[in-house]
Amino acid sequence: MKQIIFLKPVLKESLWGGTRLSEYGYSLPSDHVGECWGVSAYASSCCTVSGGKYQGRRLDDLWINEPELFGVDKEKGPKDFPLLIKIIDAQDDLSIQVHPDDEYARVHENGACGKTECWYVLDAKPGASIVIGHHAKTKEELAQMINEGRFRELIREIPVKAGDFFQIEPGTVHAIKAGTMILETQESSDITYRLYDYDRLQNGKKRPLHTQQSIDVIRTPFEPKEIRPVTCSMPSAKLTKYFDCRFYTVYKLEVEGSADVPLSGMFHTMSVIEGSGYLDGSRVEKGNHMVLTAGYGTMHAVGKFTAIVTRV
Ligand code: ZN
Repeated sequence: MKQIIFLKPVLKESLWGGTRLSEYGYSLPSDHVGECWGVSAYASSCCTVSGGKYQGRRLDDLWINEPELFGVDKEKGPKDFPLLIKIIDAQDDLSIQVHPDDEYARVHENGACGKTECWYVLDAKPGASIVIGHHAKTKEELAQMINEGRFRELIREIPVKAGDFFQIEPGTVHAIKAGTMILETQESSDITYRLYDYDRLQNGKKRPLHTQQSIDVIRTPFEPKEIRPVTCSMPSAKLTKYFDCRFYTVYKLEVEGSADVPLSGMFHTMSVIEGSGYLDGSRVEKGNHMVLTAGYGTMHAVGKFTAIVTRV
């Protein structure tokens, strides 16, 4: 039976966070909130269901005990819910970081997953930039630049605007910088190696760096990933596919009016980033995150809203 499972997001405070997540309808615990984990089954920060038949249950519990909702084969897995979807508000620069791939993480991080992630830029102040990639040609040059602290020279910084999309493969140096909000879709993992933190202090101390692990996992030379969005128009809706990899496929759905959108196969996640409306009679608005159950079929959408839709 088709169901929409609404999730209660988990908000996270951080050094570099701000107050703009309130624009998504969340009530913030402080003026330094950096992340909203909108779809998460990550053990320490798991979303719970808001309303309906599964009210109050954790997403990790549903994944294990109600596998038919997701269209997962209990035997074949995956064992854990595979996606993590966040909205990030960078009031200040995030540290420059890199994630390992699955293989490195398995060996060096107790069998954990690596992290492949992608960013849809929700908003960027005029002149905003982000860090993606580096300028070292070889591993030796990379290690030398890092060991000599030549980070400004090393990192590749590019301008950013609302609507941009970036795929961040494991081993890619990256950072979100001040004035940018993004929606991030990623493997459900939290393994991050901090390469450089602008020598900032938190409670009087610098946060630890992971220099050796960073040198181990950073891929050289950096090759930018080209994104070629493909838009398919249907009556009263547009569906744009941004990127497809073995971990996720990410789309943007724009509805204006009354549209029928087909959703086939395994479960989909949906995060509303603008506007409001109804999905098969359920009210949805900016800041809502939900799971649409496996084999959903045709979704009847009414209103004027934009959502990021993901499937595995
Ligand atoms: Zn990252």
